[in-house]
Amino acid sequence: MNDCIFCKIASGSIPSRKVADTEDMYAFEDTNPQAPVHILIIPKRHIDSTLSLKKEDAELIGRITILANEIAVSKGLDRTGFRLLTNTGRNAGQSVFHLHYHLLGGRTMEWPPG
Ligand code: AMP
Repeated sequence: MNDCIFCKIASGSIPSRKVADTEDMYAFEDTNPQAPVHILIIPKRHIDSTLSLKKEDAELIGRITILANEIAVSKGLDRTGFRLLTNTGRNAGQSVFHLHYHLLGGRTMEWPPG
């Protein structure tokens, strides 16, 4: 999508602080971190949100979760725990409509979330 900020980050036309880069996934640091570690993991292909996922995307979503684990381990978060989440739609607080998973760690998380 031409006007999607995360498409532009994935293609490199908008700069980001890269954490991981694969053929179809990209991970980068959130510019407004909510925890000592706050990384966003996205598919390079534009997908609005979880609501736009199709059955054939199941393998991609599985690999995003595996990549999140690998990043978490590289940051030492496997020892303390971390949160992996995606916001879908207005009530959840989704502000960028390109599917992204937040990897948050480095502090104790609260539940329920705000
Ligand atoms: P959400 O509210 O779940 O849609 O999350 C969007 C996230 O994207 C927020 O945590 C923002 O801080 C983050 N964000 C927005 N623009 C950028 C950017 N250019 N680089 C990195 N993170 C961004």
